[in-house]
Order: sequence, then structure tokens, then C-alpha cells
Amino acid sequence: AAEVIYGKQLAEDLREEMKQEVAVLHEKGVHPKLVVVIIGEDPASKSYVKGKQRASEKIGMDSDLIELSEETSEQELLDLIHRLNQDDTVHGILVQLPVPEHISDQKIIEAIDPGKDVDGFHPENAGRMLTGQDTFFPCTPYGIMVMLERADIDVEGKHAVIIGRSNLVGKPVGQLLLNKNATVTHCHSRTKDLKSHTKQADILIVAAGRPGLVSGEHVKEGAVVIDVGVNRVDGKLTGDVDFESAKEVASHITPVPKGVGPMTITMLLHNTIKAAKQIHRV
Ligand code: NAD
Repeated sequence: AAEVIYGKQLAEDLREEMKQEVAVLHEKGVHPKLVVVIIGEDPASKSYVKGKQRASEKIGMDSDLIELSEETSEQELLDLIHRLNQDDTVHGILVQLPVPEHISDQKIIEAIDPGKDVDGFHPENAGRMLTGQDTFFPCTPYGIMVMLERADIDVEGKHAVIIGRSNLVGKPVGQLLLNKNATVTHCHSRTKDLKSHTKQADILIVAAGRPGLVSGEHVKEGAVVIDVGVNRVDGKLTGDVDFESAKEVASHITPVPKGVGPMTITMLLHNTIKAAKQIHRV
């Protein structure tokens, strides 16, 4: 049976290191600060931003939560972002998506100073990643790369098959793997004969949001399986992969929960510290 890669444990270890790094920055007069903006009352979004804030506080990092009403206009939100861009005490700006219908998420993303774009969604940062430069990488894909690295899985020359092509997960994780010299295939909802592709994967990344999409029969013997999916089925959190059958075939596998999820917030903290260090040139 496969070795289980627990992102949760790794996330805790990394956050402990970050806590020490923040303490050192404080001594130098640098106080990394994340500002999270949420518009409206969506319960899932509210719980995500609470999690981000709690994680920031736990490592001694400053964090502000700005809660705006559903009726906030696009211009009001843009004005707020401009103020945060100008504010030297703010290093990371995150607008929780999705935003209400009357606001363009693309306009909002592009208004954020790329140097404070700790989600890594700004086209300038996406372009930097595309061209192989260092920048703020989107947190979930970046967390996956760190998990692979810390589990001593070398991706160079390996065939990585990714199910999913969203701007949030699928595309950027493929790009990061390509930058590390993997051979990358993207599957998506229009892909024909999914199994013929997944069976070729040395590294299989599943980010579709479809519970049970992948089971043991889709997995090549000895493959690494990373389950990004977060689904609620009968009140229980579950991934996209049938863990029990896949684990019999894979060499490594991530569980849901306690897998990729905790790494996402960890990389957000990492990006905010990085932004603070860049802005203050330490
Ligand atoms: P999305 O809905 O934007 O994209 C899903 C992708 O999967 C699409 O590209 C689609 O083409 C593909 N797809 C859907 N059904 C498919 C099928 N039957 N066969 C092949 N491809 C199929 O979702 P997303 O934002 O990329 O998120 C994907 C999943 O990852 C979701 O479950 C989401 O909740 C989860 N997620 C987890 C984290 C985390 O921190 N763990 C972060 C972000 C997203």
C-alpha cells in the first residue's frame, strides 16, 4: 500500500519555521501584514477567511479582515484596493473570491499591486511564472510542489498528468511542474478516454471537484497521486480520488482532509512574508 503524504503535518512544520522567521523580522522592525477582503455573506468564503486569519495570528503575523456588504460597488472596492496598495504597512492583499455578480473579478485581480498579490492571480505574476521567473505562485499549486519536494519525489523527466485546467489549480500546477522539467498532460471535461491518460501518469494530480472521479483502476502501479478535490458528500469532506482503491496501486497518495488543503494557507503565509521582505528589502 502507498505511503500517505500528510500535508497537515508538513504544514505545521513549515508554520513553525515561519513563526521564527516572523519573530526575526519583528526584531528588524518589519511586521508582515496580510489584509483579507471579503464581500457578502457566503458561509464557505467566511470560513475560509477566518482560517486564513487564524493561521496568520498563530505565526505572529498581523492580519486585518475587511468585511464589506454585498451591496459594495465595484468602484468602492477598487478605491479600497488602491488605498491598500499605497499603505506601506500592508504587504499582502487578498480579495476572497468569488465576488458578487456586479463586480468583475478580473478587474479586482488586476487592481492589486503585483508586489502584494499573495494569491499569485495577477496576470503579471502569472506571466512571470509562465516565463520561468520567481514570483508569487498561486497557493494550492505551490503547496503541491512543496509537498512533492519534501516527500523527496523528483519530478524531472516524469510524466505528470493533471485532471483540471482552471486558472486557480490545474493550469498553474501544470506550469510549475513544467518549470521543473516534468512532461505535462492536462485532462479536462472534454478529454476523451480519461483513463487512457491517467494510466500513463507517474504523477497524477486530480483537481476536478468530482468525488470518485479517479479510483485504483485509473492509476499506474507505483504512481504518485495528489488529490486536490474538496467535496462535501453526505456532510463529509472527500476528495476526487477513491482513496482505498488508489492506495493499493500508488506509491504515494495524499488524503482528504489533511492532505493538500492545509498547504494552501501555509503558502499564503509564505507569500506574505516574502512580500514583506521584498517591500522592506531585507
Ligand atoms: P473548477 O471547477 O474551476 O475546475 C475543474 C476542472 O476539472 C475543469 O478544468 C474541468 O474541465 C475539469 N473537470 C471537471 N469534470 C471533469 C471530468 N469528469 N473529467 C475530466 N476533467 C473534469 O475547480 P478548481 O477551482 O480548479 O478546483 C478543483 C477542485 O479542487 C475542487 O474540488 C476544489 O474545491 C478543490 N480545491 C481545493 C483547494 C485546496 O486548498 N485543497 C484549493 C482550490 C480548489
